[in-house]
Amino acid sequence: MEKGISISREEIIKLLKCREKEQQGLFHKAAQIRNENVTKNVYFRGLIEFSNRCCNDCLYCGIRRSNNKLLHYTMTKNEILDAVDFSSRAGYASVVLQSGEIRTKEFISFVEDVVKKIKTKYPDMAITLCVGEQDKETYTKFFNAGAERYLLRIETSNKVLYKKLHPSEMSFENRKQCLVDLKVISYQVGTGVMIGLPGQTIVDLADDILFIEKMGIDMVGMGPYIPHKDTPLGDYAVDKEDNMQTGLNMISVLRIVMPQINIAATTALQALDPLGREKGLSAGANVIMPNVTPQKYRESYQLYDGKPCVNEKSEDCLNCISGRIRSVGLNPAYNEIGTSLFYKQRVKNGC
Ligand code: SAH
Repeated sequence: MEKGISISREEIIKLLKCREKEQQGLFHKAAQIRNENVTKNVYFRGLIEFSNRCCNDCLYCGIRRSNNKLLHYTMTKNEILDAVDFSSRAGYASVVLQSGEIRTKEFISFVEDVVKKIKTKYPDMAITLCVGEQDKETYTKFFNAGAERYLLRIETSNKVLYKKLHPSEMSFENRKQCLVDLKVISYQVGTGVMIGLPGQTIVDLADDILFIEKMGIDMVGMGPYIPHKDTPLGDYAVDKEDNMQTGLNMISVLRIVMPQINIAATTALQALDPLGREKGLSAGANVIMPNVTPQKYRESYQLYDGKPCVNEKSEDCLNCISGRIRSVGLNPAYNEIGTSLFYKQRVKNGC
């Protein structure tokens, strides 16, 4: 099945709200569609949070510019290469280099050089960048250096809400344009949203699904919004359980709408529930992102409170992760880069 099932906005809203028996049915259907389309393989992305420096001041984010309690760090190129080496030995055939957003010349050439170094030493390693909004020239530079995937969450597709959650110099339009640019350059493009943001409604979330569908996105990472105490939204009370359930329903609905994309069972799910990532997989996700950032930096990369695995080393994951995947009847796909099938089709069709 190549094409997703077309679902109306009203139907999506209904599905996002469903709970209990109906919800189990939704998960079951999505898992079945996942198995038929992208198989039972779960792909690994070793997550390297290489710098927490950021020029942005997003109201929800723990590494925002104004959080002066943060100890700033940028990993050295050798530390990044060591994390890639660890991933390679662990059988994680793909790495994600994530950081705050910096647009200086130095930062751009640092990233470009590190990508080149990784590609030289590990030519088979698929590299995803997640370094925020950059101009088209920079995205092209990174692509030519060897990064073939890029993650940039739209955060919310509701423009009014976007404006409320971001400083005035950021704009929904620019972020969307970045996604368009990335597609034009031929990246495998990922986006995503947070679920349960202050002021966000279920209708917004249904529109997020439709946005992702309309943009023809290849891979998605979405997770519940979790407050961080040192942010302006830190005191906003969230219904964690409800956000968790809606988050799982988002995965299922998106899988039904876009059967061939890659969907991550994100860390934020695990932050709210120790079995969150397994639940994400059971709801239709097919990607997992073990953290391979050196332990000494993890405490300083807390996007939200209660981020899991902060006190763990990359090695600690090795024993636990395959068991977690197998526990929900899926297959840990070691040493496979797991290119998005949707992307492959898109390239074949020239769009
Ligand atoms: N600078 C990069 C990476 C940002 S951090 C970029 O702009 O893409 C990665 C993601 O963490 C963000 O896109 C956001 O969706 C998520 N995030 C940030 N704060 C969060 C919070 N409080 N709760 C849940 N997710 C959060």
